[in-house]
Amino acid sequence: MKARILAIVIVLLCALYLNAKPYVTTQDVNVRSGAGTNYEMLGTIKDGTTIEVTDIKGTWGKVSFSGSDGYVSTQYLKDEAEEAAPAKGKSSNTMIIVLLSVAVAGLLGFILRKQIAGGISKSAEKVSDTVSSIGETVVSSYWYNCNQCDAVEESLDTPDAAGCPHTKKGPNHHWFKIATAGPTHYQCQKCGILITTTKLPEANGCSRGPDPLHSWEKF
Ligand SMILES: [Zn+2]
Ligand SMILES: [Zn+2]
Repeated sequence: MKARILAIVIVLLCALYLNAKPYVTTQDVNVRSGAGTNYEMLGTIKDGTTIEVTDIKGTWGKVSFSGSDGYVSTQYLKDEAEEAAPAKGKSSNTMIIVLLSVAVAGLLGFILRKQIAGGISKSAEKVSDTVSSIGETVVSSYWYNCNQCDAVEESLDTPDAAGCPHTKKGPNHHWFKIATAGPTHYQCQKCGILITTTKLPEANGCSRGPDPLHSWEKF
């Protein structure tokens, strides 16, 4: 398989190499029968003539002249590609466009990768934020329940005592820490208060019924 590819490449290179290259004469040039001034002169090619050079021998280019092989000095030849400036300009412009495209594509790829990486690190940050807030909630946020009224309050610490509507025992709430705040819903079937906690809340503190115990139901 490798040998086959190599063979194809060699054939292509040979084809390129053997491909006759167009040149333009820079003055009237003598055509000789061989690659040297000592060879017989076959004739002259006029200045500015485009000729196909099929081979180069030192400073001599092989050309077809009047149906036979002839040689002209390469010092009087100019690459036609150089002569045709607009075509060259066009091809170098194409080259620049290709290079720019490659550069832009590379840059876009780079930016995209950076953004994706940034996005990933950002979402990682978000996750860690969420984790830390859950951690905080678990560690320091609790449900407090007043055992005189049906008030419940989620708080980091014991809430303000003022404002209990159950005035028989004074204007202050009697707060009891009944649960750690969390994702699970519990409701007391007696007083109706509803809280979200990590586990079954404390039973103490219900304002209803014959005993002061909440009757929690998970839902
Ligand atoms: Zn109260
Ligand atoms: Zn209750």
